[in-house]
Amino acid sequence: MLDRPHPTPSAPSNDPFALAKALSGFHFIGGGYVPARSGRSFAVVNPATGQQVAQAAEGDAADVDAAVRNAAEAQKEWAKLPARKRGALVHQCAALLKDHAEELARLIALETGKALRTESRVEAGVVADIFEFFGGLGSELKGESVPFAPNVLSVTVREPLGVVGAIIPWNVPMLLMALKVAPALVAGNSVVVKSAEEAPLAVLRVCELMNRVLPPGVFNMLSGFGPECGAPLVEHPLVRKLTFTGSVETGKIVAKAAAEKLIPVTLELGGKSPMIVFADCDFDKTVSGALTSMRFTRQGQSCTAASRIYVERPIFDRFVQAMKTAVDAMVMGDPLDEKTDIGTIISTGQFEKVQSFIEEGKATAGATAHVCSAMPKDQALKKGLFLQPVIFTGLDSKSRLVREEIFGPVTVIQPFDEPEAVLAEANDSEYGLAASLWTNNLKVGLDLAHRLEAGLVQINQNLVVQANLSYGGVKSSGLGKEASLEAMLEHFTHKKTIMVNMA
Ligand code: ADP
Repeated sequence: MLDRPHPTPSAPSNDPFALAKALSGFHFIGGGYVPARSGRSFAVVNPATGQQVAQAAEGDAADVDAAVRNAAEAQKEWAKLPARKRGALVHQCAALLKDHAEELARLIALETGKALRTESRVEAGVVADIFEFFGGLGSELKGESVPFAPNVLSVTVREPLGVVGAIIPWNVPMLLMALKVAPALVAGNSVVVKSAEEAPLAVLRVCELMNRVLPPGVFNMLSGFGPECGAPLVEHPLVRKLTFTGSVETGKIVAKAAAEKLIPVTLELGGKSPMIVFADCDFDKTVSGALTSMRFTRQGQSCTAASRIYVERPIFDRFVQAMKTAVDAMVMGDPLDEKTDIGTIISTGQFEKVQSFIEEGKATAGATAHVCSAMPKDQALKKGLFLQPVIFTGLDSKSRLVREEIFGPVTVIQPFDEPEAVLAEANDSEYGLAASLWTNNLKVGLDLAHRLEAGLVQINQNLVVQANLSYGGVKSSGLGKEASLEAMLEHFTHKKTIMVNMA
């Protein structure tokens, strides 16, 4: 490895601009930084200023093949390590990531435009926590003994699947990567990750840091575009498991590739998550819960964002007003500034997409757009992708804003009168990722929680992904679960039965 370039500092760096430059132009394959075999790269842009901050290696089938072959070779020895030893190494990675948490938070803020204080630091902390959690689960890779016959010993053992191909999006790239890489590694697989083209830097640094602890080739990172780099990864014959987070359309492409090879696939796709507020709720806690649920500090760029809020009629007007006041108080500005609550949209394409939803809402008869907060005044940010949050009222369930995933700081609040009616509205969606209910009547709350079509229902809270809580949706929101022990067992191992006839 010594002849490979090693451009990044070993100590944590608090200068995200310098670190972004140092990470420019590389994949991480077989334990070292390598440029794209084609020599090509693409620009990584700071969405707060429009300025280029780095070049990312533009991966293609040749890079994919090199990464997968390295991973396949490394996996053989990795799988032979005792499971607890693998876990201990992953745990060691978590400690290293904790030491670099501030650095990673700054880097992710720079490349995604997510505010450092409200979002990016939280993500960096959760990432270390996820590796720490899974690092402790090595000894849970247990099988069973099956009562078959007195003279026959019949047991099951958990075996790794081989090389895992993981494809991730740009909204919380480090966290969503950790949900895939941590359980895959502890279970004895090796991994090739394809990062999102909009956010390739922080995940590359995480991969390099972890490679200081892990054997070379066990964890590899590629950057590049979907069709050129993602497609050859999902189609590669040596990749024996796919795990994907992203859009429904791409999820279907990944699922088809898995079907073609008859390999397992986990999909975490979109959402249109309802938040249901009853008049008897704890009002102030619920208003602040709505801000969190809608992920306004992440510019609404979350598949669990509460982009449909249903409020019982007696408190409807008061609730809308209180939410408007609360969002108005949030500060939009430079993502790296400690005072900032809300940063920028990730890319021009997303910006235009979200704006088209807002224009459509504004043009709908009877609708009111409550435009919140204030644009930053700093001249240095004038080309930044800042978008004021919008709360819509007066739209109904036929609106595209109520039916489709916007992935921006836009929510629609509708009144309701009856629990049964609001349940029917909430379930009338192609998605089924998450939902939240806000009431002090737990009898009603629990009844609806059982009947909501969603992978995760929270009553009187709406937290982000937590280690050890199974996470994943139903309907078009995906297949399979992440983040928990059973997610590791069910999605990153297969169960082999061994029988010994001792008669
Ligand atoms: P988004 O619209 O949020 O960017 P996508 O589903 O397009 O969602 O992207 C999520 C991830 O899937 C990204 O890493 C992207 O590069 C990758 N991707 C896009 N198209 C394909 C494809 N045809 N095959 C494999 N991966 C793809």
